[in-house]
This record gives sequence, C-alpha cells and structure tokens, in this order.
Amino acid sequence: MQIERIELGELKVPLHTPFKTSLRTVDAVHDVVVRIHTKSGHIGYGEAPPTAVITGETRASIRAAVEEYIAPKLMGRDARAMEDNQEILHAAILGNTSAKAAIDMALYDLWAQSMVVPLYRALGGSSGTLETDLTISVNSVEEMTRDAVIAVERGFHVLKVKLGLDEALDIARVQSIRQAVGEDVVVRLDANQGWTLKEALSITDKLDGLGLNIELIEQPLHYSDLHGMIELTRVSRIPIMADESVFSPAQALEVIRLRAADILNIKLMKTGGIYKALQITSLAKMHGIACMIGCMLESSISVGAASHLAAARPIIQYVDLDGPSLCKENPVVGGTDFEEERITLNETPGLGIQEVKGFVAYE
Ligand code: MG
Repeated sequence: MQIERIELGELKVPLHTPFKTSLRTVDAVHDVVVRIHTKSGHIGYGEAPPTAVITGETRASIRAAVEEYIAPKLMGRDARAMEDNQEILHAAILGNTSAKAAIDMALYDLWAQSMVVPLYRALGGSSGTLETDLTISVNSVEEMTRDAVIAVERGFHVLKVKLGLDEALDIARVQSIRQAVGEDVVVRLDANQGWTLKEALSITDKLDGLGLNIELIEQPLHYSDLHGMIELTRVSRIPIMADESVFSPAQALEVIRLRAADILNIKLMKTGGIYKALQITSLAKMHGIACMIGCMLESSISVGAASHLAAARPIIQYVDLDGPSLCKENPVVGGTDFEEERITLNETPGLGIQEVKGFVAYE
C-alpha cells in the first residue's frame, strides 16, 4: 500500500440555515478534501474545515500545510505503517491541526481497508450505531424556540443550544426552549467562551435554580481562562465541559489534573486526527472523565471518521456529530449514514467512501 499521490481539492455544501455561535456566522460547509492514492489502487479520504476562529486555519493554510510540508514527507511510504506515518505527520509542521486531521483520517481509512474491516472495527469497536444531538444557533428567543421545536419534530432527542452573547437573554432563551420542547428532550448548552467567570457563576446558578434541567455547559469561559474554569467547575451544579481549552493530549491531561472541567469535548480538527484523539480517550478513561465527540462545520467525510472513533471508544458518551444534519445535501456516496439523529456506520472496509460529488481538485 505505497502512497503514490496526495490529491487536494475543495467541497462546498449549503446549510439548511446559517450556523451562528458567539464567534461566527457561516452559511455553507466549504472545506478542503484530501484523497490519498496508493499504488495498490486504494483511496483514503480526508476533510478539513477552515475554522479560523478556533484552530487558526484557512483553506489556503490547510492546502499549504499539506502540499508544502506534509505530503512530500509521506510520499512513497507504506500507508499501513501507522505509528511511523503519524510521527512524520505530526513532526512535519507545528499546529495546523485540521490539515493534519485530514491526512490522519485518510491514513486510517487506508489502514482499515488493508485489513478489510470498517475503521471502527479495526479500532476495536463492535456496534456501528450512534445518536447525535442537533445544534440550535444563537438567535432571538423566538427564532431559537422555533428552531428547537422543528428539531424535535425532525426526531432529535438531544439539543445543543448555542448561547453566550447576553446573560438575561441567554436565560430567556433556555427557559423558552425548555418550555416549548418539554421535559423529555435533553438540553445541553454551549457558550463558546462567551461569558466571564462572574457571568458564568451567575447564569449557572440561575439555570439550576429555575430547574431547567440542563445536562451540561460547554466552554463557558475564554479558552485560556483555566483558573476560571477550575472555579466554575468546583461551584457549578451543572457539569462543565471543556471544548476550545483542549486541543492536545497534554492539554487534556492538564484540564483533568486541575479539574478544570467535568467532561472533555474531543474534535478531530483540534487534536490533529484520530491518533491523538485516541490518546485523549485513554487519558480520560484512566482518570474516569467522560468525553464528547464533536465536529466543526464538516460534511460526512470527516464527521464519518469521527463517528468511527466514537463507535470504538465507550468513554465517548456524548455525541455531537451534527455537521451532516446541518447540510442541505450529502455529497458523499457510501460512508457513514447520517439520518437525522441516527448515525449508522457502513460495514464496507475503511471509511467506506466510494465517491464525493462536487469535489473540485486543485489545479
Ligand atoms: Mg463547543
């Protein structure tokens, strides 16, 4: 399985409704797609979204990291030599975690194909189904309540509500949504670093006092405010999750050691792929900390790869893989099936992707 060519291009898929958080507004998935071709005729697929506000990456930087730094080092190598290839990948350039993730998942795709099993089985998993939440973008109280009701009508049982712009408004948003969807729907919140410690202490106390039954709150404070996260995690009765504060296994261990969160959110685009994500799940398991698997605005190529990881590691107890559900269409033929909240992994070897419609290769 000698790597012969690493092909790069772009994929654009419109969203149902604009995706809004306290950090940004986006109306389409517009990602870089990687295809690693081997001499044996196999193709490994990968994808990287340009999430500049979180990973610092753009389409141009992803392309440059792969074309100029990573691809030349992997060319001609055996795709099955996972450990060595990972060492080369992560030493090729600092940071650039989404670019690395795209290559990492294409390598895992090929590695599992070489064993003729779906990736989640190659990683030790046995059940190929998952259930995801759906994100409700931050908007007016009325719009968010309407979006939440539509999501429940579509069959979602877990909603991830984006907050983080104004304290009184945030409380009103959650109250209105809870009232509209009833008690059976799980509501988790994501402030995307939008609050100060003072605001977060006040909001968590109020949400708890109002009996709104919030499952968890994701990244309430700035990613660098670990002291604030420690204090909030100690005081809050609602579990606190670290997202933007944790990219690498080293940061995960720091957050676990300092008890700066109750739960960790793992995203392939932050870790630089499955290899490092597996290291975080091992650390979390050793320390008895649960994990969520999340995604950026991605199609079912890379979210499919994340679903294989989640299906292989039971410590990943929360699934936030709604990228494909936010898209108007699915450009991928084969691969993981995303049908509203139900995720069904393909039993075809590797990631099981046959074709990506609308893929435009770079000249
Ligand atoms: Mg988040």
